[in-house]
Amino acid sequence: MFAQVAIERVPNQLFTYAVPEGLEVQVGQRVTVPWRRVCHQGYVIALTETSPYVPKTRPSAPTVEQEDLFGAEAPRQAQGSDAGVKPIHAVDDPLPYFSETTIRLLRWMADYYSVGFTLALRSALPAPVREGGSRAQERFVVSPILPPPPHLPPLSARQKTLYENIVRVDGGLLARLCEEFRTTPATLRKLATLGYLMCERQTVARNPLAGRRILPTRPMALTPNQAAALEAILSADRPTLLFGVTGSGKTEVYMQAIARTLEEGREAIVLVPEISLTPQTVNRFASRFGKTVAVLHSALSDGERHDEWHRIRRGEARVVVGPRSAVFAPVRRLGLMIVDEEHDSGYKQDESPRYSARDVAVMRAALEGARCVLGSATPSLESWVNATERGKYRLVRMPERVGNSLLPAVTAIDMREATEPGKPVPLFSEPLLDAMRNRLARGEQTILFLNRRGYAPTFQCERCGHALACPRCSAKLTYHAKDDTLRCHLCGTWRRPPERCPECGDPIFKRLGFGTQRVETVLRTLLPQARVIRMDADSTSRRHSHDELLAAFRAKEADILLGTQMIAKGLDFPNVTLVGILAADRSLNIAYDFRAAERTFQLIAQVSGRAGRGELPGEVVVQTLQPEHPVLRAACACDFEGFAREELEERRIAGLPPYKKLACVTFTGPNEATVCQAAKAAAAAFEACRGLEVSPAEPAPLERKEDLWRWQVLLRADASKALTAACDHVLPKDTRVSDRLRILVDVDAVFLS
Ligand code: ADP
Ligand code: ZN
Repeated sequence: MFAQVAIERVPNQLFTYAVPEGLEVQVGQRVTVPWRRVCHQGYVIALTETSPYVPKTRPSAPTVEQEDLFGAEAPRQAQGSDAGVKPIHAVDDPLPYFSETTIRLLRWMADYYSVGFTLALRSALPAPVREGGSRAQERFVVSPILPPPPHLPPLSARQKTLYENIVRVDGGLLARLCEEFRTTPATLRKLATLGYLMCERQTVARNPLAGRRILPTRPMALTPNQAAALEAILSADRPTLLFGVTGSGKTEVYMQAIARTLEEGREAIVLVPEISLTPQTVNRFASRFGKTVAVLHSALSDGERHDEWHRIRRGEARVVVGPRSAVFAPVRRLGLMIVDEEHDSGYKQDESPRYSARDVAVMRAALEGARCVLGSATPSLESWVNATERGKYRLVRMPERVGNSLLPAVTAIDMREATEPGKPVPLFSEPLLDAMRNRLARGEQTILFLNRRGYAPTFQCERCGHALACPRCSAKLTYHAKDDTLRCHLCGTWRRPPERCPECGDPIFKRLGFGTQRVETVLRTLLPQARVIRMDADSTSRRHSHDELLAAFRAKEADILLGTQMIAKGLDFPNVTLVGILAADRSLNIAYDFRAAERTFQLIAQVSGRAGRGELPGEVVVQTLQPEHPVLRAACACDFEGFAREELEERRIAGLPPYKKLACVTFTGPNEATVCQAAKAAAAAFEACRGLEVSPAEPAPLERKEDLWRWQVLLRADASKALTAACDHVLPKDTRVSDRLRILVDVDAVFLS
C-alpha cells in the first residue's frame, strides 16, 4: 500500500510514501514523514495499491521557453522511484483532518484558482491547527460570593466598583474580566483573599462563547414570506439565492433551516462577512442552538481557534459560524451551507489561493449533497445572473420587512447646491445637520457613514494640487490628525507633513480631504452637545474594541456613530432612525474598478438598511455631487432590480463579468524592467492561446507596493477552463519564480489593485 502525501512545507509537489506493515493509514490523516532527512508533517491525500508513482500537482512542467522567459529553475522531480520509496513514520491522529470530499473540493480549488494542491490544502486549515497548537489550557474562573459574608474587611472605592461590576456580570473568566474591567489578575485575587470572590482553577476547552450570558430563544412563527422561503430552501435541488431586503427576517429563516438540518442528523455552516461577525450575530445563533455552535473567527486567540476546530472535527459542535475560512470547517455530514451577505467582497481571499468563499461554498455543498443558501439584500451580479438568467440558482424573494417597519425614506442632497461660490464643499449640508439636531432632541441615534479611508484625506497643495505619495508604494499618504503624521496604509511608512509644498513651494500646504477623524472634529464643533463614537481601522485595532464600541453605542452611550464601511453591515440598532451618507459618489469614480457602481449601490443599500430597524421609522440622507447618476438614483429608490438591469447591460456590452470570466495576473519584483519584461512576455504568450482575450501588460493601478513594482495582465474568456488552461500553459507552476519575480494569478478577481 502506498500513500500520496502533501507536505505542507513543500507547496508544489505531492510525494509517495510506503505504508508500513501494521500501520493503519486513512485518507485525510495527518502523518509524519521523512523528507530530506528531516521529519515533516503531511496529510494523506490518496491511497494506492499499486506501485508508487510521482504525481505532479499541476499538469505541465515548464518548457524551455518558459525558463528563458522567467529565468525559473526547472522544478525538481519529486523523490521516490520504485525502489527507494520511504515509509510513513507515524500517524499523528487517527481521526482524519480532511474527508475525501474535502480533498476533492481542494483539488477543484487548486485547478480552478490555478495554484498548487498543497497551497489549497494549507488554506483549509487554521494556522493554530496546522502548527499543532496547544492542548486545552488551565484557566481561572471568578465568581462573586453573594451576598458578601458579614465582617469582611472594607473595600477601597475602586475595589468596590470592581466587585459591583463582577456581581453585575455574574463573574466569568479571570482573563476576560481583567480585560473587560481593565484590571489585573492580582487585583482580582486580592478580592478573592479578602473573601468577596471565588477564584477556581478549571480545565476547559477554550471557548469563545465562555463567559457570555446567552439567553435561549425559541423559533418564531414565520411570516408567509419567510415560510415560503424556508419551504423553497428545504425542497431546492440547487442553491437558493435568498434576495431579501434588510430586516426581512433572513436570519430567522436560516435558523429554522439549520434546526431542520440538525434534526436530520446533519451539520450546518453559516458564513458571514468577517466584519459582521459581531457578538450580536454570534449570540443569535448561540441562543438558538447553544453549545453546539462553534465560532471560527480570526480575532479569536490561537488557542480558541485550535479548540473550536477540533470540537467541530470530533462532532461536538454541529453549527459553525465564521468568516470565509469557515467554509472548510471539518463538519462530518454537511447538510446546509449558508452564505449570508453573499455579495460581500470580504469572501474573496486576498492571498493565494485567491478563492471566493461563496463559490467554494456552492461547490462544497454540491459535492456533499448539502443544501445551499446565498442570502443578500443586494446580491452580487454573478449570483443574480446565475439565478435569473442561467437557472443555476433558485431565486426566492423576501421584499418586505418583518412587522410593520417600512424601509426608510431616502433623500439625496445635491452638495453642489449646498456649496457657496468659491468655497470648498462643506462636510455637512443643512438638511443633514437639521436631521441630526432633530434626533438629538428626541434622544434617537444617528449613524454617519463615510467611504473608506485611504482615498482621503490626502495631503494636497491648495495651489498646485500636488499630493504626497509614499516613497515605497505609489499609494497616497493619508493624514492622521491625532499624531500629526502622514501614513501609508499599505506599508505603514510615516512622515511629518512638510511645511511647504515640495512641488511649488507654496506654504499653504494643508488641505485635508476628509477622513473620519476630520469629520469627527467638524462634527464636534457643529454639534458640541452630541456624543460621538468614531469607528474605523484606527480606533478598532485592539482586539475587542470593535465589540466594545458597538456595545457602547447600543447602550446609548453615544448619539452618533461615525464610521467607514465597517459599520455598513449586519448591525441592528433599534434606536437608530437616521443614517447620513457623506460623499456617496466618492467610490463611483475609481477609474480602474469596473465594479465601482456595484459597490456603491451595495454600500448605500446596506447602510440604509441600518435605519429604522426598531419600532421607529427611519430616514436616510445621502450627500452627493452627482444626484443624477443612475446608480445613485437606483440606490436612493432601493431599486436593486432596476440597477441590476442597467449595470448588467453595460457589463454585457463591455464583455465583463459575470458575462466573461476574468483573471488578473500580477507580476511583482524589485526591478521594474524585469517585471515589465516578464509581464509583456507573458501577455504575448497569452495572445497565442485560443479563446482568450488578453489586455496589454500595464502597470497595476497600485504601481508600487512595499518597494516592489507591480504590473498586470488581464485575461478574459467565456469559461474559466480557458483561463486556467492558459495560465498552466504559459506560467511556471511555482508562483514565486525567483527572488526577482513573483507571479500571482487571481481568477475571478474582485479588486484590481
Ligand atoms: P435580516 O437578516 O433579513 O436583515 P433579521 O433576521 O435580522 O432580518 O430580522 C429583522 C428583525 O425581525 C429581527 O429583530 C428579528 O428578530 C425579527 N423577526 C424575524 N422574523 C420574525 C418573525 N417571524 N416574527 C417576528 N419577528 C421576526
Ligand atoms: Zn508605503
